[in-house]
Amino acid sequence: MDSAKNKTALITGITGQDGSYLAEFLLGKSYRVVGLCRHRSAMKVKNLNHLVDKVEVVECDLSNSSLMMDLIRRYQPDEIYNLASQSFPGESWHKAIETGEITGLGAHRLFEAVRQTKPDCRVFQASSSEIFGAAGERSQNERTQYKPVNPYGAAKLYAHSIARMYAESLDMFIARGILFNHESPRRGIHFLTQKVAYGAACISLGIKNSLTLNEQGEPIVADGKISLGNLDARRDWGFAGDYVEAMWLMLQQDKPDEFVIGTGQSHTVREFCSTAFGSVGLTTKDHLRVDQRFLRPAEASPMIADASKAKDILGWTPKTSFTAMVEMMVNYHVLTLRDEMSGKLKR
Ligand code: NAP
Repeated sequence: MDSAKNKTALITGITGQDGSYLAEFLLGKSYRVVGLCRHRSAMKVKNLNHLVDKVEVVECDLSNSSLMMDLIRRYQPDEIYNLASQSFPGESWHKAIETGEITGLGAHRLFEAVRQTKPDCRVFQASSSEIFGAAGERSQNERTQYKPVNPYGAAKLYAHSIARMYAESLDMFIARGILFNHESPRRGIHFLTQKVAYGAACISLGIKNSLTLNEQGEPIVADGKISLGNLDARRDWGFAGDYVEAMWLMLQQDKPDEFVIGTGQSHTVREFCSTAFGSVGLTTKDHLRVDQRFLRPAEASPMIADASKAKDILGWTPKTSFTAMVEMMVNYHVLTLRDEMSGKLKR
């Protein structure tokens, strides 16, 4: 399984959290890595800074079918990882059409481009636990019913269904990873976990009003507090660096299949906050504010992955604990903020 020399992988969403971890992982296996990003200026984003000399980055929006076909013809990839997406479930209520267009139809355009240009190429589709939504079961596996509760979940379910249909009816190799939440210091700043990690770091350094803004355009830390939605929401949070290995493993199997990927442990938002604040010697008391604007119109059931199929068939299990992952995120912000503060003092 390790003899991947000379293989070419194409990654959509290379500038995102998973794109950068996956690129590192595949470079470590001697792949030629070609990344697709939607804006050329995005090549400067921080997740990719350390990789710009190692990966080839080309511009391609998932709305552009003909360009996707041109790139597949040009690079002749052995594997394609479709990570590009409007990936923010909460935000998908405000960007409902764009979410359907890119997260749903964009994936379909890619599968169709592969079918027309290189049907033997192996494809990974990043599905999401959000397709389960309000399924209401204690834990979720590949047999759980789909009941998305937001436009993001619905768009992911469309892409997931088309991917399975193309694999089963057209004999294409499209594997589906039903990914539960996974986080890292490279997570987008508007995601809850990243706001909490950044907020805890700011407050521990005495920053009462942060420069970085939330999705409402307000400081993430205001008057020494961070504003969040439902503190009792329960999620299964893993480390992104572990999840990209599962993506690769799915494309090394004999047949395309679908796998739930998660840790099997769940925590509430409140517990995430306590762990983050605890890692810098603080408690959450006086630092959290519940803000109705961050509540979702419909809340998903508690999410807990039953990833036993991935363990049995792929031999995959997560390596990083919840606490280690949260500490990694807070520590990243503490170091970055300290650098910024000392840079300012020197100037
Ligand atoms: P992410 O950090 O938000 O990255 C998404 C990527 O998609 C970014 O590179 C973004 O480009 C790109 N993109 C957005 N719109 C595009 C368009 N119109 N055309 C081309 N590219 C576009 O997401 P992630 O956390 O790495 O997640 C990777 C994949 O896994 C996504 O499909 C996500 O929905 C799915 N997933 C993630 C999780 C999770 O917890 N992280 C869980 C389940 C499923 P810009 O840099 O230009 O914005």
